[in-house]
Amino acid sequence: MEIVVGTRNAHKIQELTRILEPLIPQLTLVPAPGPSPVEDGETFSENALIKARAAFADSSLPSIADDSGLVVDALGGAPGIHSARYSGTGIDEENTALVLSHMVGVVNRRAQFVCAAALVHSGGELVVERSWEGSLAEEPSGLGGFGYDPIFVPEGHSRTAGELRDQDKDALSHRGQAFRALAEHLLALR
Ligand code: IMP
Repeated sequence: MEIVVGTRNAHKIQELTRILEPLIPQLTLVPAPGPSPVEDGETFSENALIKARAAFADSSLPSIADDSGLVVDALGGAPGIHSARYSGTGIDEENTALVLSHMVGVVNRRAQFVCAAALVHSGGELVVERSWEGSLAEEPSGLGGFGYDPIFVPEGHSRTAGELRDQDKDALSHRGQAFRALAEHLLALR
């Protein structure tokens, strides 16, 4: 089964492959053939749909996309939908450093990772949003994962997401939850 992925982030494609392959027999994830669309939505769900719609328009195949990010309570929800380029550079270490610099002396360190997973196909479209609760560490730790993983301590854990094994992150994460919810709809397309 061929599904087009309207997401350019190599780490996310790696995670999607790990999450979906065991659930969908003979799944092949294909990169979207066209250019990346402008992500001018105001929510994770709007941006995920923009990417999945563009991938479907360019491929005519069932298309999925992810839009995700870190939402920090004490920062009014920032970096939110701007997570990828929060520091202006798109460099993970600079993004995490900027978040931590805003959190010096802040007691409320609650944060969530949010993922919107969208599916667009000839029969319609849908989007599901899931979150992963946690808090911000004082300093980065761990070499696994990507993005803000080294500063995110999942609820009930004492180590960061960057210190989790891949399969443990997938079992808990916002992306794991959202795409497992989407998988049943993908199976119904076969
Ligand atoms: P998007 O590609 O516009 O959806 O941006 C997503 C950004 O959110 C990534 O570049 C990361 O900075 C952050 N992000 C999303 N999911 C994760 C995750 O699982 N771990 C760490 N950072 C994440």
